[in-house]
Order: sequence, then C-alpha cells, then structure tokens
Amino acid sequence: MTLPTDPAANLVSLIRCASVTPAEGGALSALEAMLKPLGFLVDRPVFSEDGTPDIENLYARRSGNGPHLMFAGHTDVVPIGDEAAWTHPPFAAEIANGEMYGRGAVDMKGGIACFIAAVARHVEANGGPKGSVSLLITGDEEGPAINGTVKLLEWAASKGERWDASIVGEPTNPDTLGDMIKIGRRGSMSGSITVNGRQGHAAYPQLADNPVRGLMSLVDALLHPVFDKGTKDFQPTNLEVTSIDVGNPATNVIPAKATATFNIRFNDSWTAETVQAEIHNRLDQAAGRKKYRPGKKTPVDYDLVWRDRPSHVFLTRDDRLVETLSGSVKAVVGKTPALSTSGGTSDARFIKDYCPVVEFGLVGKTMHMVDERVAIADLETLTRIYQRFIDDWFGQG
Ligand SMILES: [Zn+2]
Repeated sequence: MTLPTDPAANLVSLIRCASVTPAEGGALSALEAMLKPLGFLVDRPVFSEDGTPDIENLYARRSGNGPHLMFAGHTDVVPIGDEAAWTHPPFAAEIANGEMYGRGAVDMKGGIACFIAAVARHVEANGGPKGSVSLLITGDEEGPAINGTVKLLEWAASKGERWDASIVGEPTNPDTLGDMIKIGRRGSMSGSITVNGRQGHAAYPQLADNPVRGLMSLVDALLHPVFDKGTKDFQPTNLEVTSIDVGNPATNVIPAKATATFNIRFNDSWTAETVQAEIHNRLDQAAGRKKYRPGKKTPVDYDLVWRDRPSHVFLTRDDRLVETLSGSVKAVVGKTPALSTSGGTSDARFIKDYCPVVEFGLVGKTMHMVDERVAIADLETLTRIYQRFIDDWFGQG
C-alpha cells in the first residue's frame, strides 16, 4: 500500500475535483481515500439550514496516546472567473516551470495536501504521531460559512472531541514561505446609519430638513478622531465608510433620507460591545452639532442598524504552540516568521473558542486570482515544516 507522502500528488487529486463553493465536487471523497490508509476514522456530516445550501463536511481522527492536534481547513474554492484567461485550465493541476496551476492550489487545497503528506511520512517512518491528530475540513468557508466550521466544531464537541491545539492551513505568507504566522485576528463589524430628514425644495431649505447635512456630521464623527494607535500585537483600529447613498436624481429636491454603511476592524483594546458603545456615543454627540445644520432645533434623527453578527477579536496566548511552530519554520527555511494579526477574518475565529489556534500555510499571492498556482518546491517545504511541527509539538523529535 502506498501512503500519501507526496504533497504534489495529493494536491493533483484535490485540484481535479471541481469543488467550487458550495459543491463537494469529489474533494472530500479524495481526502477520505488518502486518510483511511493512514488509520483515520472518517465522518462526513452534512449540515443544512433554511435559505442556505446543504454542505458536506469532513472530520477525521487518528487516535493516539497523548495530546490532540487538530488541523483545520476547507476544500471548497472560489469561482474560477474568466476561464479563457487561465494559462492552464483551472481544474487540471498542470505543472509548468515548477509551478502547479489550479483553483485552490494555495487557498487551500495545497495546505491540506501538505499536512496529509506530513502525517503520512510520520506513519511511514515511525508508525505515526504519539498523540491524536484530527482534520476538521469544511466545504463552506468561501460561501456563507453557516453550515461549515461552526457546526462542525459543535458536532464534534458534542461527540466528546476535545483538542489541545489547532493549526489552520490558510495561506498566511505574503511573499515567501516562512514569512508569517498568524496568531490572532482583528474583530470586524458592519453597520448602516439612516438619517431621516424632511423632503423639500432646494430653494426653500428652511421648510425642509436635509438629511445629507445630518449624515455628514455623523460620518465625520465616525472618522475622527482615530479609535486608537494600535497595541503591542495589533495594528490600529480602522473604520471605513463603504457606501453613502441618497438615491436622489433631482438637483432641486432636498431628499427625505440618506444612508451610510461602514465596516470597522478593531484590535484587542476593544470588544464588539465596547466598539458598539463608542460608535453610539459618537453618533449621539454628533447628532446635536450645528456645524452643517445651523438653526435646527432638534438633533439629527437617525437609526443605526448593526449588520450580521460581529467577528470577535482574538489573540492566541499559547506560547508553546506559537513558539513550536515558529521554531519549525526556522528549522526548515532558516528564518524566523513574523507573528501577525493582520488581514481579514478566518475560521480561526470560531476554533479559538475550543482550543488555542494558529494559522500557517502557503504563499497567498495568487489566491482567488486567475492562474492561482503554487511552487512545487513550496509544497515540499511546507510538508517538511508541518512534519517538523508534529515532531516537536508531540515531543518526539
Ligand atoms: Zn481559504
């Protein structure tokens, strides 16, 4: 029996499954075929919820006597975009000039292919890691993310699964392999402000209440002053106004309503609750300002609606996990990776409620782009880093 020790071969199997979110596309079956010979018990729970597509997921565990390491990731991929623009077809896994082309090559079938190869090399060399290893793989990371990691974690935990640490294989390196480990993420929240005015003739503003004037005060208060200057582990909190809408085609009419939408990325000096309180406070104060509304006796009449659920900020404080991974990177590529909390949100924000989590995978430069591709040499290097990490984290190096 040949074990899946070659990450490039593993990745070919995965890329050839056209698992554009939410389709399974055969990708989880391909994974199952790789994992079973390694001694993993594989479950494929399907989750559903009204208004969202049913999603197939995979949880596989190889039990051992020792701590429990979870590798988390997703096999769904984003759409291919303009197929004609690809140099090599997006689901063919063709190799040219030492690079393998295909949707998901780096985000993140490549990371999964390397982790499986790392475990397989362990099994081949010494019968496998001392403790337990599991893979928690969703088919719903690039989609609405409702029937994926959140439910898979709840499902596994309800069956008694407990983890000591998790590594998420998302592409974390900006330029070269070994650049960056992610040890946390900023929080994220979005909201919409609607200002209610009174419609009227632009020549008779005293008879109307222009909501654009009120909205300008409110938006100004969101943008200034800055929320903070950053913390030891995080960049400064930042709010972006992402849209301002009035929808008024007439130049001589004062509109009745104006809205603005914003997104804030906040660091660990805040919680979702304190950010919300700060924004409410800023808006209430600004609503009474007269700068753009001289002579108006009542404050700006506005509604604020928070969109979706907030993503909470987190920082992983498990020194052994962070230092072991950092040391593994250094041992294989010769440089110490930056420990970062930059970028958008990831499924790590859900995993952090169960165990300490870090993120490390391939180079993200081509993710979500036409001609997504990965250097074959990087696949080998990442496999060796994961292998080394397994050695050191289980303490059998
Ligand atoms: Zn991803």
